[in-house]
Amino acid sequence: MEHKRKCISCGEIKNREEMIKITKDYIDGNIIIQPNSKRFGRSVYLCYNKNCINIAFKKNKINKILKTNKNIDKELLLGITQPTK
Ligand SMILES: [Zn+2]
Repeated sequence: MEHKRKCISCGEIKNREEMIKITKDYIDGNIIIQPNSKRFGRSVYLCYNKNCINIAFKKNKINKILKTNKNIDKELLLGITQPTK
């Protein structure tokens, strides 16, 4: 079964590997961008799309959904490109 995820900015539903994952680690509360499979916690997904990233930051969506005050590195997110298959 494919794992579908929803972008928090545009609401589009895509396959997991077509999205950027941002997780708040459930142990230490650190924000991890594209965590490996050993990190668990509340997560949000964004398209590999500058527009979706910008909307998420403008509305402070990532911090709100993850319930964190930690700074999330927007430049890092903007620099991520979708891995090619
Ligand atoms: Zn999107």
